Amino acid sequence: MKALDELTFDNRFARLGDAFSTHVLPEPLDEPRLVVASKAAMALLDLDPAVAETPVFAELFGGHKLWAEAEPRAMVYSGHQFGGYTPQLGDGRGLLLGEVYNQAGEHWDLHLKGAGMTPYSRMGDGRAVLRSSIREFLASEALHALGIPSSRALCVIGSSTPVWREKQERGAMVLRLAQSHIRFGHFEYFYYTKKPEQQAELAKHVLNLHYPECREQPEPYLAMFREIVERNAEMIAKWQAYGFCHGVMNTDNMSILGITFDFGPFAFLDDFDAHFICNHSDHEGRYSFSNQVPIGQWNLSALAQALTPFISVDALKEALGLYLPFYQAHYLDLMRRRLGLTTAEDDDQKLVEGLLKLMQNSGVDYTLFFRRLGDESAELAVKRLRDDFVDLAGFDAWAERYIARVARDGDYTQEQRRGRMHAVNPLYILRNYLAQNAIAAAEAGDYSEVRRLHEVLSKPFEEQAGMEQYAQRPPDWGKHLEISCSS
Ligand code: AMP
Ligand code: MG
Repeated sequence: MKALDELTFDNRFARLGDAFSTHVLPEPLDEPRLVVASKAAMALLDLDPAVAETPVFAELFGGHKLWAEAEPRAMVYSGHQFGGYTPQLGDGRGLLLGEVYNQAGEHWDLHLKGAGMTPYSRMGDGRAVLRSSIREFLASEALHALGIPSSRALCVIGSSTPVWREKQERGAMVLRLAQSHIRFGHFEYFYYTKKPEQQAELAKHVLNLHYPECREQPEPYLAMFREIVERNAEMIAKWQAYGFCHGVMNTDNMSILGITFDFGPFAFLDDFDAHFICNHSDHEGRYSFSNQVPIGQWNLSALAQALTPFISVDALKEALGLYLPFYQAHYLDLMRRRLGLTTAEDDDQKLVEGLLKLMQNSGVDYTLFFRRLGDESAELAVKRLRDDFVDLAGFDAWAERYIARVARDGDYTQEQRRGRMHAVNPLYILRNYLAQNAIAAAEAGDYSEVRRLHEVLSKPFEEQAGMEQYAQRPPDWGKHLEISCSS
């Protein structure tokens, strides 16, 4: 276990130089205070969890202090936003403080979001508000606990600094951890600004540091792109299987590592709705829940374009062709497990689609349905769940097929079935209304609800005594919350 002053830095991205990022110091928040910290994320830095409560922790992550070895940099990138190319973006309010390596030999970027203005702030104020910082913190750690690759969050620091959004709010900072903060948009920036040397340096950096095994392949960059395609397909398969809607899948928000990254007005589905749009400024539904799958491929094509200096167009096209098959294989595998199936049959895809259609028409809670399906034997569970459906004849026909499918699947006890299903079907997810309750309390100065919710969501598959209220369907007011897109 380490104290805060014992972190070891190795700032590999900063060493790429001024063409890639600009030195900027964090702008401190007034009266910084700890809102919430993640012990699991602290463990990634070998940090003793007790240090979160020390004043120096809030000072460091509230922008007042800096390690001597930190080299705070604002990164430059660009990207396709809602389908249109924006030639220059960059860290407008976040800083890469440095890269820390842990005892296991992993490097973790320390990225402080809400740290003030940078040369890339454009019209913005460089700040982040408490509400959006809490949402990013909770989602990062909840996704990780669900087994969905994501950037992580070490802590949220609150303050008395006024920040103007639709109304006056308070500034906050979230300390984000990821093994890299390089986005698709980094490659696009150097490609479209026609800087082939830096473009090559960036590609080499990513290959050597993040895809070293691809160097053994005859065409290392092609192998790396294939791996990026596969990781994105797997990540999005998990989003779809668990009902996560990212909200702003612009290429500047897509990580080169295939992890969930840069949260906007994200949401987890309550009732199943394939057409759900969590971002109210997304009028065309470009990033609706079901569109996430084709958009994943669209984004990879945008990256492929930026990689044409290193990989032939034919090879890129072939690699892009792997996306959908990879996606479908991962998705179906997860959905089979969610249904408690251990074998594969040709008609399983139809079984899943049939269920989702019924859920869509009846507004069935996406999370609780699967959890309850494992509570009892298939026969008993479908009898109990039947009441949630409007199309009873449709559900009965599905249930009959499902029961027959379970019978063919194998010979196991209900105990085994429940154990297996509960290990993949969460009881607790980050419902919008739960986040909203925690945020309202935090804005009034009480951080206990944020902390409790974070704790509950860190073990989403385990039933926790006294936490029944976190496993309920949302109340009516909580179903159609409009989450502000400003952050
Ligand atoms: P986002 O939609 O949060 O992914 O941000 C898109 C771009 O706008 C990025 O370059 C951000 O750094 C920048 N940005 C967002 N909010 C602010 C802000 N309050 N101040 C400065 N830049 C911002
Ligand atoms: Mg972004």
